[in-house]
Amino acid sequence: MSAKIIDGKILAAQVKENVKQQVAALRQKGVNPCLAVVLVGESPASVTYVRGKEKDCNECGIENRTIRLPESVSEQELLAVVQELAQDSAVHGILVQLPLPAQIDERKVITAIPPLKDVDGFTPETAGRLMTGEPCFAPCTPAGVIAMLKSTGVELAGKHAVVLGRSRIVGKPAALLLLGENCTVTVCHSKTKNLQQLCAQADILVAAIGEAGFVTADMVKEGALVIDVGINRNAEGKLCGDVDFASVAEKAAWISPVPGGAGLMTRAMLLVNTIRAAALQNNLEI
Ligand code: NDP
Repeated sequence: MSAKIIDGKILAAQVKENVKQQVAALRQKGVNPCLAVVLVGESPASVTYVRGKEKDCNECGIENRTIRLPESVSEQELLAVVQELAQDSAVHGILVQLPLPAQIDERKVITAIPPLKDVDGFTPETAGRLMTGEPCFAPCTPAGVIAMLKSTGVELAGKHAVVLGRSRIVGKPAALLLLGENCTVTVCHSKTKNLQQLCAQADILVAAIGEAGFVTADMVKEGALVIDVGINRNAEGKLCGDVDFASVAEKAAWISPVPGGAGLMTRAMLLVNTIRAAALQNNLEI
């Protein structure tokens, strides 16, 4: 293997250490950063994600409130909870764990989160702000992708970045953030023609499609930076990304593994967004 590893474990630990220090600094100024997480129902995956967020907050000294609601909660009841959190000045970040049960219009609920508390970066207003370059909290996964790329020390400006996937929460915002870094960006999706050739031109390749081992060495340019966002299970049931790590690592200059890459950085970026939200809501700089 010739590629260097973009180690999400090390990077996330550094981010968390920094967050811890900033939490202490905010506390000294009388601000106690607080993240509220709304969990509807008891789906094992959602429960696990929420537990992870609680653990991360605890590690960094961020207060966290988890509001647990039954699977049968009505849209109106859920909206009332979100609106109450929106008005509570002691709560700086609000995250509604998705997916929501069928009786609830997800979009309506997410839209009820004010942009200044939208630490997950999922509201339409945040998407608009990201598009227009106004201040906002970038969605955590794409923000983590940029942090991982920057950690390599490689100049991003002018590079050709190819993003595989155009979802609202990963592909599209990742493309916008890469544009913001002055990359030349190509976005690929399921209808893209000549996908292999496009990928092979990429100085930076971000894979976010959800297909185990989709990106193979023949799709990767020698010396490319490769970020794997995918979370899949392979035929043996093992966690793996969208990139065929072993073969691509022979060709890339830098590569992020799964597990141990984008997932950990996603969690870390939520903490960063939360302390930024706490600072902004109190007119403080961090
Ligand atoms: P979506 O299913 O919402 O989007 C997948 C995208 O990939 C779509 O734009 C789709 O194209 C495109 N796509 C699917 N198959 C192909 C293909 N064969 N060729 C080209 N494009 C294709 O997924 P998400 O964006 O939510 O997630 C993507 C992956 O990232 C998943 O594995 C998910 O688990 C993971 N993920 C990881 C996170 C983390 O923390 N590390 C966070 C969020 C997601 P089209 O639009 O045409 O349908």
